[in-house]
Amino acid sequence: MADHAEPDLSPDTQVVALGRPQPRPGAAVNAPVELTSTYHAGGDLDYGRSGNATWTAFEEVLGALEGGMALLYASGLAAIDAALSLVPTGGVVVAPRSAYGGTVTTLTQRSDDGSLTVRWADLTDVGAVRDMLPGAALLWVESPTNPLLEVCDVPALVAAAHEADVVVVMDNTFATPLLQRPLADGVDVVVHSVTKYLSGHSDVILGAVVTPASDEGRARQERLLRHRTMRGAIPGPMEAWLAVRGIRTLHLRVARATANAGELARRLRGHPSVERVRYPGFGAIVSIETIGGAEAAERVCGATRIWVHATSLGGVESQLERRRRHANEPPTTPDNLVRLSVGIEDVDDLWRDLDAALRKA
Ligand SMILES: *Cc1c(COP(=O)(O)O)cnc(C)c1O
Repeated sequence: MADHAEPDLSPDTQVVALGRPQPRPGAAVNAPVELTSTYHAGGDLDYGRSGNATWTAFEEVLGALEGGMALLYASGLAAIDAALSLVPTGGVVVAPRSAYGGTVTTLTQRSDDGSLTVRWADLTDVGAVRDMLPGAALLWVESPTNPLLEVCDVPALVAAAHEADVVVVMDNTFATPLLQRPLADGVDVVVHSVTKYLSGHSDVILGAVVTPASDEGRARQERLLRHRTMRGAIPGPMEAWLAVRGIRTLHLRVARATANAGELARRLRGHPSVERVRYPGFGAIVSIETIGGAEAAERVCGATRIWVHATSLGGVESQLERRRRHANEPPTTPDNLVRLSVGIEDVDDLWRDLDAALRKA
């Protein structure tokens, strides 16, 4: 593989150039799907649960983009679970009341079974978070949040946490490292659902954890690697290969989807069927609250032709859903909120389809 660092390259070049085999005459241009459970003794790779060259290819690209060292996992939730393994048994986690439903659910379950204690916070209120930090082991940050799209002051939260000796983990799924690099703001551990923008084609479930190349970061990376190897939440080589294939166009997809999202948010603001539009000014997720409550919101989701009614985001195709149709969605999400994951289609086609569905509902 090429050298990890490459700090002189722009992210747009890193996504294309990194994670490739050494350029020797006759060598393949792309990392192969390395379907093997074990390796001949004496090399860097040993057994397929501890490492795989196709994982390494993806980890090299994502590590460079985030400015750290990445580990690939079987899902975003496996990556979240790995990050939470940094909390000692019974330790305190300060976490957002409103965040990705899976994170809220896993924290709630662990607090119910007594393996950790959660202090729920509003992360947009730095003062309130600061008051909750003393004695905590970890601060969980998500920004923008899923699906309320709240944005918090990451450097201020990091400063408050580090003053209290608290480790900061941040879920960077929504922004991607192209729009936001948490490690540069002092965050200690970044997690991703690679399922979303990084892979970008709604064809794999994967996750990742990234730590900085500092001494502390390296020590955490070793702990996380041991955790991945021993818990066994490892990605499949085929999924890793698809993620490498997907991330090659990350910059193009994010740029197009973001431009589409900004335009749709602008047009939706004047729409007679829409009560409220949430868009933080970057990224490709727009959340709307429809007039007519949950029923109208459901009808909108069922009435589109191009927009796919499904629960995910970050794919090339535009998707929408009413989040509260899921029982585990935090009650902080309004009942009539429809989350729009804007894709890379023609923006006028997307608008006509959505506008017609909204008017019908
Ligand atoms: C989807 C998602 C996850 C979970 O990832 P999976 O790959 O589905 O396990 C975590 N965080 C955010 C913000 C997400 O949107």
